[in-house]
Amino acid sequence: MIAGKVIKTMGAWCQVRSEDGQEYACQLRGKLRLQAIKTTAPVVIGDHVQLLPLATSGQGVIHEVLPRKNYLIRQAPHKKAYGQLLAANVDLACLIVPAVKAATQCLSIDRFLVVAEALGVRPGVVFNKIDLLDKAEQAALAALRKLYEVLGYETWALSALHEGQVATFGQALQGKVPLLSGPSGVGKSTLVNALAPAAHQRVGATVGMGQRGRHTTTHAALFEISPQTFIIDTPGIQSLVPYAVEKATIGHCFPEIRNLLAACQFYNCTHQHEPGCAVVQAVTQGTIAATRYENYLEIVRTSVS
Ligand code: GDP
Ligand code: ZN
Repeated sequence: MIAGKVIKTMGAWCQVRSEDGQEYACQLRGKLRLQAIKTTAPVVIGDHVQLLPLATSGQGVIHEVLPRKNYLIRQAPHKKAYGQLLAANVDLACLIVPAVKAATQCLSIDRFLVVAEALGVRPGVVFNKIDLLDKAEQAALAALRKLYEVLGYETWALSALHEGQVATFGQALQGKVPLLSGPSGVGKSTLVNALAPAAHQRVGATVGMGQRGRHTTTHAALFEISPQTFIIDTPGIQSLVPYAVEKATIGHCFPEIRNLLAACQFYNCTHQHEPGCAVVQAVTQGTIAATRYENYLEIVRTSVS
């Protein structure tokens, strides 16, 4: 049995890279496929698997999917009762947002942080296009970054067009499997290409998938930026959509609210109208940022579960 990491999935096939760098086009053992528990596919990029190589060179069968440290999931587009796994074992999920008028991005940022917290994935925020900022905007961005850094979130401010700034960000990704997410136009492609200057190619693009394998751009893949460092490239997925984050647990996904949960008078306080609410008091006193609290209320209000 060989241990490897799933770097690409395509229907019933997936491509696995073993620890010594060999690649295998794999199918799943039949029984594994039947075990799909309410997800549209049982194996996802980032999965660690055990495979048995076949005599045909470069092919194998996956016998076991090892337990995941975390996974990203969204509601399956065409099967509402199902979740669609996007990636497993994600070390860092970065939301890329425009640095210009960064304060207008706070609701998107907070939604992203909530989902990452709920899924147990370490989040980060990348403010791109800082070359376009004037002095006042630079100060506003610094204040915003401070807000998030104090809460324990890593942030970066860079221009994807600036080699040195991209390199600094790249160092933070070394040896990790990060996910980069963000609205279109924010500079995600520019950043990914800059991170992988020499051989920027999606790994596994050449795997032999027969007639049906013409969909390389619509399937998620790991994108190798340097040895042992892969970026999760999920075409068509603009940002993480909250899935299975229950209303009652949203407060746990705000560190500054989570810290005060025991201080509220009611154990099931929603931090809205209850007497003795430590969170409302902290907002009044300014120890919780009003914008974060407003976004908490908005995320609860618009949550589907
Ligand atoms: P994507 O849709 O997120 O992949 O965005 P692109 O990478 O295609 O970038 C959108 C546009 O923004 C392109 O015209 C880029 O050249 C430009 N762009 C990307 N990063 C920066 C940056 O840091 N500064 C400036 N001024 N423009 C940038
Ligand atoms: Zn409360």
